Amino acid sequence: MRSAVAVGKMILLYLALAVTLFLLLNTLGLDLMQRKLVKEKEEDLYSEANLLLEEYIGGYYTDNLNREETAERLSIVAGVTNTRIWLTGISGDIILDTKMVGGATGKNILKVDPAFFEYTFLSDVAYEGFTEGKTLFVNLAFYRDYVKRGYITISVSMESIYNEGVYYSDFVNICLLLFLPVLLGVFAIIYCTNIIPVNRMGEATLNFAKGDFKEPLELTYPIEFGGLGSAIIYMGDKLKNFKEVQRRFLSNVSHDFKSPLTSIKGYVEAIKDGTIPKEDEEKYLDIIIFETERLQKLTTNILELNNFDDNGVVLHKAEFDINKMIKQIALAFEGTFKKKKLVMSLVFSQKEQFVVGDPDKIQQVLYNLIDNAVKFSNVDSVVRVRTEEKGAKVVVYVKDYGIGIPKESINKIWDRFYKTDMSRGRDKKGSGLGLSIVKEIVTAHGENISVVSTPGAGSEFVFTLPLAK
Ligand code: ADP
Repeated sequence: MRSAVAVGKMILLYLALAVTLFLLLNTLGLDLMQRKLVKEKEEDLYSEANLLLEEYIGGYYTDNLNREETAERLSIVAGVTNTRIWLTGISGDIILDTKMVGGATGKNILKVDPAFFEYTFLSDVAYEGFTEGKTLFVNLAFYRDYVKRGYITISVSMESIYNEGVYYSDFVNICLLLFLPVLLGVFAIIYCTNIIPVNRMGEATLNFAKGDFKEPLELTYPIEFGGLGSAIIYMGDKLKNFKEVQRRFLSNVSHDFKSPLTSIKGYVEAIKDGTIPKEDEEKYLDIIIFETERLQKLTTNILELNNFDDNGVVLHKAEFDINKMIKQIALAFEGTFKKKKLVMSLVFSQKEQFVVGDPDKIQQVLYNLIDNAVKFSNVDSVVRVRTEEKGAKVVVYVKDYGIGIPKESINKIWDRFYKTDMSRGRDKKGSGLGLSIVKEIVTAHGENISVVSTPGAGSEFVFTLPLAK
């Protein structure tokens, strides 16, 4: 609909332009051209009159040429130049007229226009009995012995000049006719490279605003406003992605909240109505505590990430000994290690290794990485945390000999709520948020984190921190 209106407008504009051009050329253009032709004609006739004056009229007055000879010669000139020539005495009597056979006349021009000879050029005038329609006259006086003897007048009908104008305007009109398809082509190009894309951009923006991303904005050929088009495409992708993230977030959050809440509710009701015998209550209360902790961890992580999104990761940097921090965290994990019969191996290239960073946040990074290493380790294996100085950095390695990460998941583990299917079954406590937080924190420090993993053999997470000076 929108494009039909645009096409209609373009056609109207095109027709308006074509008609205006046509009218302009045939009115103002033609008028200007005719004025120019009259001017040119005046100059031509003036030169011709001068020439005739020198060539023949002088001879006529010095009796070198008789009247008949003069009349004959002037007639030839008039015939060739398609003009009319008069020879007029000082009193206005026309002595010779090339239009009359034998040059004969007997008329006096001053009787119809006493001011006739006061003008060199007289255009668009008509004298009954003297002219056939409107005429252009050029008058030139001739002298002999410093005495004015008469005038030579050359005239041409205005119609013949106008006809010449019409001839040129026909020519211009043909050019215009040839130009109109070109103009149509220009309009088509403007339509394709401007109107269509702008309309599409408008439609796409409206669709995006409605949350409809089904029809992506496609701008295939080179267009104007290309930058705007790319920006809209980029905006569409971002919005689509944002919507998708939002949808995934809600479905993940609801899913992760639903199962612990269901089991808590089920066990509490069972304890209340006595379905669970008194002696088993302890066991089920432990499950309730486990599920509550899971919910607590999930909520804390969501709030933390939300806070990162709103305010960025706010860092309170300080210098601290990373090796000491690792030792403290290892102590906190002692119980868990024992339960899974794991051995914690700490390897430090130096006794103390001072780094610059936010101690609380780096502690969280280490905690999440070691927690994952423990969770995904095979029973009776080793978890190794190692630090090493490399240039101006300290590199921290957290390695386990556990289930590893499938190749297809390796790039996704940093995404919010991402858990590999396998781990979902094994680790019900996980939220899929731990590594997202880790990545945000390390990146906020301007550092890198990466992982090397072999499914079935284990994983090693590696991140860097700046060495304190
Ligand atoms: P979770 O809370 O589920 O551990 P994370 O964001 O910390 O969430 O981890 C995302 C997913 O990455 C985990 O569910 C797991 O599938 C995988 N993963 C993380 N660390 C390891 C590891 N050391 N070994 C194997 N898989 C891991």
